[in-house]
Amino acid sequence: MNEQRIEENRLNDTKKYDIVVKRLQERGVELKDIAELTLGLQRQYLPNLAYEDALEHVKKVIMKREVQNAALTGIELDVLAEKGLLSEPLASMLLNDYGLYGVDEVLALAIVNVYGSIGFTNFGYIDKLKPGIIGIIDKKGKDEGKCHTFLDDIIGAIAAAAASSIAHRFAE
Ligand code: MG
Repeated sequence: MNEQRIEENRLNDTKKYDIVVKRLQERGVELKDIAELTLGLQRQYLPNLAYEDALEHVKKVIMKREVQNAALTGIELDVLAEKGLLSEPLASMLLNDYGLYGVDEVLALAIVNVYGSIGFTNFGYIDKLKPGIIGIIDKKGKDEGKCHTFLDDIIGAIAAAAASSIAHRFAE
């Protein structure tokens, strides 16, 4: 790849970073909410970890192209489902967050995958306990007719990946 192409890709990643952050906000999620999840995951291992460090790693994770692509894809499907633009049987499965659908978790694994096996454990933990913002958007999905089928897994995966990124750094 020539240098100009590398520079173009870097700019695209930065632009997509901004778009991902904006999409998350539109769906009711701030980066600080995700950083809180990351802090929660790391608290027992690194009790003195600062919130700013957690936030910095969340941002670093969202700079990754694989993460951006997965986040944009999942959020888009949630939005299309909400707008009634998907056909059946997919529409009902997404709107009802059908438990055996499973593609939401698989897509999120593309995010967790970037940071190796610690990420998987963290993701499973969040998926099961639904702490913080995950519980909030899950409830909103049920109470207000919103579709957050992909969003909860995307957020959980970004938080898990950031926790793994921190773990790798402190393990060095
Ligand atoms: Mg889900």
